[in-house]
Amino acid sequence: MSPDRLTIVVAAYNEAEALPLLHPRISDALARVENLDARVLYVDDGSRDGTWRALQAIAADPRVSLLRLSRNFGKEAALTAGLDHVEDGAAALILDADGQDPPELIPQFVAQWRQGYDDVHGTRVERAGESWLKRATAHGFYRLIGRLSKTPIPQDTGDFRLLSPRAVAALRQLRERHRFMKGLFGWIGFKTVAIPYSRESRAAGRSKFGFWKLWNFALEGITSFSTAPLRAATYLGLATALVAFLYAVWIVLKALLWGDAVAGWPTMMAVILFLGGVQLIALGLIGEYLGRLYEESKQRPLYLVDRWQAASGVSSEPG
Ligand code: UDP
Ligand code: MG
Repeated sequence: MSPDRLTIVVAAYNEAEALPLLHPRISDALARVENLDARVLYVDDGSRDGTWRALQAIAADPRVSLLRLSRNFGKEAALTAGLDHVEDGAAALILDADGQDPPELIPQFVAQWRQGYDDVHGTRVERAGESWLKRATAHGFYRLIGRLSKTPIPQDTGDFRLLSPRAVAALRQLRERHRFMKGLFGWIGFKTVAIPYSRESRAAGRSKFGFWKLWNFALEGITSFSTAPLRAATYLGLATALVAFLYAVWIVLKALLWGDAVAGWPTMMAVILFLGGVQLIALGLIGEYLGRLYEESKQRPLYLVDRWQAASGVSSEPG
């Protein structure tokens, strides 16, 4: 029987300290899986520290190939680049460079894949080294997007997952610029299974995702996978219009019954400001979607490759 082919895809941005700790762990984990033709593909997402140099040292391992992007395109694009360079017919396992997704679970992932699952994903049951606030907001976000989106998006699941060859091929067809990976994984469907694990804290370095970035990430997720906010704006407009109408009726009645003493400046200001605010919110919302439409319409490539270094143990070109 020919061995199953698997490529571990690791996106790294300024991870010079973490990578040398990670690779031996991957190596050990792979050694524990039988009948597997494994490769490791590191994507340097335009790092500004010694990441590329660290990767050169790691590439002494004949199974390792390296890809360097022309600049920092962000994790989602880096992962896309990685998946694009996985050989045709091989499965892919996505792993964070900082050791937060334990490589020790690789044998378990492979076992599930061999059971016939196309998307084996790690679900965090515990998150070490992350603040109460981050955990709470993350939880709230998964609940919200679960409600809003028609695409199934598993809770507390990151990019840590193994994709079967056909799932990789499917994902490659999704070329949108605003890449909310969790949603894209859900969109392709197929048979999925979750592997619970407790998320450790970073092995080295610090998180690249601050609150502002996470907030934008959440917006990305919601706007990419749901148009519910647009509909909400419509209802908000309807509700305000109704309230405004009732209030108008009341004002007219009051003037007819008790006369009009020409006061009313505060109420007028309040109504104008309120309506103005509601209109701006609705407009901003439409703008969010329109902006994304504009970005999408430009059809730019998702990333540019600066360098591709194939594994020394393989001669073939990537798929
Ligand atoms: N990453 C990347 N490009 C970026 C930001 C992050 O490739 O622009 C990688 C990073 O090197 C790491 C993974 O994405 O392997 C997750 O990043 P991080 O640990 O900072 O996120 P967190 O675990 O805090 O959500
Ligand atoms: Mg991390």
